[in-house]
Amino acid sequence: MIRQTYIVIQMNLKRTDLLQKGAYINGQFVQADSAKTFPVYNPFSGEMIAEVADCNGDDAKVAIDSAAVAFKIWRKFTGTKRGKILRRWYELQIEHAKDLATILTIEQGKPLAESVGEIRYGASFVEWFAEEARRAYGDVIPGHQRDKRIMVIKQPVGVVAAITPWNFPSAMITRKVAPALAAGCTVVIKPSELTPLSALALAVLATEAGIPPGVFNVLPTNDAPSIGNEMTSSRIVRKLSFTGSTAVGKLLLRQCADTVKKVSMELGGNAPFIVFDDADIDKAVEGAIASKFRNAGQTCVCTNRVFVQEGIYDEFIKKFAEAAENQKIGDGLKDGVTIGPMVEEKAVASVQHLVEDAISQGATQLCGGKRHGDKDSLIYLPTVLAHATTEMKVFHTEIFGPVAPVFKFKTEEEVLRLANDTPYGLAAYFYGRDYARLWRVAEGLEYGMVAINGSSVSTTVAPFGGIKESGIGREGSKYGLEEYLEMKQIMWAGIE
Ligand code: ADP
Repeated sequence: MIRQTYIVIQMNLKRTDLLQKGAYINGQFVQADSAKTFPVYNPFSGEMIAEVADCNGDDAKVAIDSAAVAFKIWRKFTGTKRGKILRRWYELQIEHAKDLATILTIEQGKPLAESVGEIRYGASFVEWFAEEARRAYGDVIPGHQRDKRIMVIKQPVGVVAAITPWNFPSAMITRKVAPALAAGCTVVIKPSELTPLSALALAVLATEAGIPPGVFNVLPTNDAPSIGNEMTSSRIVRKLSFTGSTAVGKLLLRQCADTVKKVSMELGGNAPFIVFDDADIDKAVEGAIASKFRNAGQTCVCTNRVFVQEGIYDEFIKKFAEAAENQKIGDGLKDGVTIGPMVEEKAVASVQHLVEDAISQGATQLCGGKRHGDKDSLIYLPTVLAHATTEMKVFHTEIFGPVAPVFKFKTEEEVLRLANDTPYGLAAYFYGRDYARLWRVAEGLEYGMVAINGSSVSTTVAPFGGIKESGIGREGSKYGLEEYLEMKQIMWAGIE
């Protein structure tokens, strides 16, 4: 108890009520039906932050029912009215960005500056879809017979279930909930067991913004399968939107088959980062650092494999390793820290295993390769591995940590083959100058998102999503609203 108080003081929140522990069902914070709770920890210090309601399938049923009741009302609001409420939710997120970011850092570990960035990024979806709420346009199709008139209207799909991960505890929620609410759907969300507090903080602001009870519900749980089963088997839930690992995504897809739900899946990646001989090497190094080490390498669009053309390989790895070593590591709440802890022990053990495998097969470790500080530390030092080969696990596995294997290649054809040699297809990055090659490579990469001479693909205004086993559907942009709309054709006959 004393420790919890200590953490809350350390967080220095202006709005201490943003730190909630109950499930948010039908507009109220409530305990789980079983009265059970589970602990949430700070990954930097290992201290417990809070005991949160541990919901199960029974709570999910109640939340789904309340979302179904609320759907009848919410869908009838005009797009303009829904947009106004969403706009207010956006403004509140911006107003309380510092508090939301602090809660995020303390439960997830990422540096505060990155957390503030995430809150703004997350809020930008709410702003965008507040505007899009008015634009669920249909269509008028010329009749195929003289007496016929055909219209297409768009209607909300209904109650949406969403399951989100711990690496973006806030933005992965708003990226789903904002378009769903804009379209007229209602939502039941299950945040990650590692980071439920950010979701609950958003719920406080949802009430304040005037989002009616039942329209947005949050179910924290330490028993994901129990809620997942209820969500996927329910006939009331008409859509599941999931962000997380490919393995769990496949499981949920199978579970959704029986009720033939619409699905959106944002799954794993194995992003290539290609540097051609004619690239600006310093810019490429800067880009590789940003896309590899953001969030300690724990994002689905993080660079996984760096491919460098042979003419500049030595210069690139030298500069890249120097820049990696210069990262400031530590407590995410401290100024200037660029790399914080990984989220849990399992994650550190997994990257350590991948590094050992690569070194045992001949990779050269240029920096990192171990934890920072004592054996319990969850900070893994930024690691660069030169002379990586396709036999190593790092080639095929989503590393999800601050480890960069660097491969050498000779030709464009060879690197395209290597880059595409994966079941994943989320994000890809490449640097070069020859404009014809830039086009060819952008077209040849089998990925849903490609960045040329840049290290970021994430913005509200562009469609985010993958192909192959990286997912189904797109989030953000003008396409994002469609994911929550059904199309209905209305055929008029007898118009003589
Ligand atoms: P990560 O490797 O990023 O933790 P997961 O796919 O394990 O990815 O987790 C993403 C989300 O999926 C989390 O909210 C987690 O609780 C949830 N999850 C994991 N397993 C299941 C399951 N069997 N049913 C429903 N949700 C699940």
